[in-house]
Formats: sequence, C-alpha cells, structure tokens
Amino acid sequence: MDKKLGQNLISDLKEKLLKEKVKSLEQIEELKKEDPFSDPEHVSDNAAVDTDVREQVGHDTVEAEVKDLDRRVKDINLALKKILKKQYGKCEKCGKIIPAPRLKLVPEAQFCIDCEKRLRK
Ligand SMILES: [Zn+2]
Repeated sequence: MDKKLGQNLISDLKEKLLKEKVKSLEQIEELKKEDPFSDPEHVSDNAAVDTDVREQVGHDTVEAEVKDLDRRVKDINLALKKILKKQYGKCEKCGKIIPAPRLKLVPEAQFCIDCEKRLRK
C-alpha cells in the first residue's frame, strides 16, 4: 500500500480543515449567544426556581457543546500544523500513516483507528 499521502489529498483536506475551523468557531459564537448566563437581562433572583433550573441546564448544555467544539478546533489546529511540518496523516501514537479514507472522514484525526480504540478504552 501507498505509504505517503498524495499532495492533492493533503491540499483537499487542508481546505476542508480550514472550513471546518471557521464553521466550528462560528458555532461556538452562536452557542455562546444561546447561553442563558450570557444574557445581559439575566438576573439571578430567587423568584422562579423553575427558570433557574432551566437556565442552569441550558448553560450546562451550551458549555458541553462549546467544549466539544473547542477540542475540535484544537485538533484542527494541530492537524494544520502537521501539514506545515509535513507530518500530516501520521498517527501520534504509533507513527503509522493514517489511511486516507479515515482522513477524508475525520481530517483532524490524530491517531490511527487502532490507537484511537485503545485510547478510548
Ligand atoms: Zn496508531
């Protein structure tokens, strides 16, 4: 099998990564607007417990989603850095080339499927 990723594939994926990054950053902005805690009219009075609970849940959901997106952006940045260093597509753990179909699906992947599975355990 091909040991190296083609230049065309890498530039395609680079474009995809840059688009994903912009999209993720936009999503983070949108989510932060939805956060009830960022509402300037939000007042923490004790008037309505129901509202407080709903806002807390909303805030937690937003926070979890933002965290996911943040992690994604970090992975994307790492992948972009690896492209610059001509290290792109190498598994961070075992150093093997991550197969192209996986990179097409998850261009920011840092690990090959085997290592990813092991890390998730
Ligand atoms: Zn690996």
